[in-house]
Amino acid sequence: MAHVITSPCIGTKNTQCITVCPVDAIHPRRDEPDFETASQLYINPETCIDCGLCVHECPVRAIFPMNDVPADQHQFVQINADYYKGK
Ligand code: SF4
Repeated sequence: MAHVITSPCIGTKNTQCITVCPVDAIHPRRDEPDFETASQLYINPETCIDCGLCVHECPVRAIFPMNDVPADQHQFVQINADYYKGK
């Protein structure tokens, strides 16, 4: 399982979540080339250890455990995973 970043992050990209993640599972970071063009931040489902630290850092409450993603946000499970395909 993993945590998932949903639509409130679009255009927000606060990045406080990145600073608390112990396994560097959230990208792009501000120092990565695609930060400016990415519409939101994404959690890598392969590396996230479900610690939950990022949830409380998000000012727009965009992050959920996979099993708690609201029904109208469920497409973001795939959207997060897709960002890491081929990386
Ligand atoms: Fe990182 Fe923990 Fe958030 Fe997963 S739940 S993205 S490991 S801070």
